[in-house]
Amino acid sequence: MTTAALIVAAGRGTRAGGDLPKQYARLADRTVLALTVEAFGNLAEIEHIQVVIHPEDGALYASALALSACRILAPVHGGATRQLSVLNGLEALENANKGITEVLIHDAARPFVQPDTVRQVIAALKTHPGALAAIPLADTLKRAGPAGLVAETVPRAGLWRAQTPQGFRLGDILAAHRKAAATGRDDFTDDASIAEWAGIPVAIVEDTPLNFKITTPLDLRMADKLISAPNLSGWLPATGTGFDVHRFTDGDHVMLGGLKIPHTQGVDAHSDGDVVLHALTDALLGALGDGDIGQHFPPSNPKWKGAASYIFLQDAVARVASRGGRITNADVTVLCEAPKIGPHRDAMKTKIAEIMGLDPTRVGIKATTTEGLGFTGRREGIAAMASIMLLLPHNKPAA
Ligand code: MG
Repeated sequence: MTTAALIVAAGRGTRAGGDLPKQYARLADRTVLALTVEAFGNLAEIEHIQVVIHPEDGALYASALALSACRILAPVHGGATRQLSVLNGLEALENANKGITEVLIHDAARPFVQPDTVRQVIAALKTHPGALAAIPLADTLKRAGPAGLVAETVPRAGLWRAQTPQGFRLGDILAAHRKAAATGRDDFTDDASIAEWAGIPVAIVEDTPLNFKITTPLDLRMADKLISAPNLSGWLPATGTGFDVHRFTDGDHVMLGGLKIPHTQGVDAHSDGDVVLHALTDALLGALGDGDIGQHFPPSNPKWKGAASYIFLQDAVARVASRGGRITNADVTVLCEAPKIGPHRDAMKTKIAEIMGLDPTRVGIKATTTEGLGFTGRREGIAAMASIMLLLPHNKPAA
């Protein structure tokens, strides 16, 4: 079984808003088409992807898929109707001579197709010549009569909404499409109806409503909400770590997490020597692949003498924002024998959350001694380690 996905992207529909056909609308800086292609490209079961595009969309297609890592065949041009576009795509798959035995035909405007749905359609093709994703009707159906009045209630038992993908054996569905075209039928609205007309049995695979077709401006807004949710595709997680040390010297306080904490010593530093904020700054810069604190705020520059370290951290936070990124959480460990961190933990969480624009529940503060060992154990200095997680938009590399 060699399976190809045929993605139909030749439509002109601009009802979703904007000047471009909906498959080229942007969601989180990528196009609907790129998301749809990647949904199939991410599945090992799909060996080839063929996209059918409108003859005028070559440049749009090239830029839409420039960022996609998927292996896809050169696009083919569609015809006057969806049906004829699918026929062109099927002919291209046949002519590709890649031994393709099964084809899953899918609308480009359904970027949220779920891996399970695709796999179930493929599985159904092992026992049926055709299979389509569909959703059982939940609403009561009314047939409208004259003057906008209800004429009757239509029983919904056994009724399903046809979605895509719709899978077939390539030879079967190509023959059915050729026959439909040859007999002048060009009004089929999906491929399962051509299969039915040609006598090919089609099994139903229950689909999820997430796999909706982007048609109207509201659909596009809903799609944007979905793609912007950090647990869905469109974001790349990036982690960063930071570490900082300052030597104790004469003084009466240390700055930690933006707080002035009384102590029997101070720290030797060019800035205010806040190891917590320095470690956090480096962790953010690390997640961005954007150098380190010494590079952005060199100690050789007198401008930073005695500087409050929240300035460095806020600069790093702004760098995240300028990449369109989001900070998920921050976690810090302070290493010292003294001062005690516990009494200041909550205030430090609040202060760091404020500097970074995070909810305090997203900030972790921990402290440990080093059991009298090493420079911290000998009370020669204080150290802090920090970890950060960011979400960066998929198309903006972290370097
Ligand atoms: Mg430092």
